[in-house]
Amino acid sequence: MDINLISDTVTKPTSAMLNAMMSAEVGDDVFKEDPSVNALEQKVAEMFGKEAALFFPSGSMANQTAIKFHTNPGDQLICDKYAHVYNYEGGGASFNSGVSCRLIDGHRGMMTAEQVEAAINPPDFYHSPFTSLVCIENTTNKGGGACWDFEELKRIKAVCEKHSLGYHLDGARLWNALVAKHETPKQYGELFDTISVCLSKGLGCPIGSVLAGSSEMMDKALRIRKILGGGMRQAGYLAAAGSYALDNHIERLAEDHKKAIEIGDLLKKLPFIKKVEPIETNIIIFEIDESLYDSDGFVQKLNEKGVRLIGMGQGKLRIVTHLDYTDTKHQAFLDILGSI
Ligand SMILES: *Cc1c(COP(=O)(O)O)cnc(C)c1O
Repeated sequence: MDINLISDTVTKPTSAMLNAMMSAEVGDDVFKEDPSVNALEQKVAEMFGKEAALFFPSGSMANQTAIKFHTNPGDQLICDKYAHVYNYEGGGASFNSGVSCRLIDGHRGMMTAEQVEAAINPPDFYHSPFTSLVCIENTTNKGGGACWDFEELKRIKAVCEKHSLGYHLDGARLWNALVAKHETPKQYGELFDTISVCLSKGLGCPIGSVLAGSSEMMDKALRIRKILGGGMRQAGYLAAAGSYALDNHIERLAEDHKKAIEIGDLLKKLPFIKKVEPIETNIIIFEIDESLYDSDGFVQKLNEKGVRLIGMGQGKLRIVTHLDYTDTKHQAFLDILGSI
């Protein structure tokens, strides 16, 4: 049995999703003539109560596009030190937008309104970079799938309004937060200027992200997406997977979360596990007591039994539950883990 717990991006389309893709009506999306792409964009815009939305091949491109139109070269954005936009987008903020990142030393990828406000450079002090944007991530990826307290997000919004800063949400994993915290997309739409969401993580699509915002912003985003090479033609086959997932794969994320808790409970009982970080969604970050079991050896041992997971550096290991991690695989993994 192949039990791949490396990431929730390893999923393959279900047969029902494939059917939706195969029967999609398509057209040339560069001419805005793909009905399935248009339908997905409209669906996401409506979910978040935004005027418009735009389909992207990746979450990185959606985030980078947002950073581009919220900033000017030389500006600075504020984000947590764990932020995907800073750590995992190839240095795109500087490459594409000429923007630096002011990093906040937050907690599990989350910062406070006070920390954000203190990081803003005075706009009239022309020696410092001009602060123009705050980027939030929910759930936090490197932070272990942690969910924000919505009240803190509102407080940060107030800081952004006071200082005329853009407010962008990297919501690649927002669906997990919505399910875990019983929140709605509309709540987030009211708060943020722009929101990017991924279809290819927990929702199980082979590809795709969507950026939502005002019509004016999405008009700008369209041009930037083109410049970044993200103009796609009969992308409706991919968008149809997205629409299918939005209708069928959101509620079920609760199952991934439940399995993650069960794995965490078992890990905590194993004598060679030093620490398991709090589990709020589908990501489990844990540490091995290296004096009892070397973490490479642990990963190797699981590998031999058909289980794959990855290290995050500094002795931390990560497990991510997902759509293709079935009940059968879950039981098999718990048995394997218990026998080590
Ligand atoms: C996955 C992810 C992204 C986007 O990644 P792509 O691989 O470019 O689609 C962005 N932010 C977070 C928090 C993510 O987990």
